[in-house]
Amino acid sequence: MTVAICIYCGSVKGGAFVPCSSCGKTPDNEDDMVRSFVLTDHHFPVAQLQYLSEKIKSGSNLDLQIDDSVMQRMKAALKLLGASGIAARRSGN
Ligand SMILES: [Zn+2]
Repeated sequence: MTVAICIYCGSVKGGAFVPCSSCGKTPDNEDDMVRSFVLTDHHFPVAQLQYLSEKIKSGSNLDLQIDDSVMQRMKAALKLLGASGIAARRSGN
């Protein structure tokens, strides 16, 4: 299972784009989706995710350094995910 961190409240959740069970939010724009996508165990070791989770929970500004090339790759990947129906599911209520 994917370990992901909610970018809004710092809770651990089971996937980057699933609704957070703590705050109920789902990343709903491209930048938030990319940030959510980055905050998974695909990109950080779990120990690092826990650290980032604590930072979000304590209200610190997450200074995620995502360089442009990574951002572009992520956005391209998100388009593929969208094409497979995840974005459509996400926008439904
Ligand atoms: Zn949350």
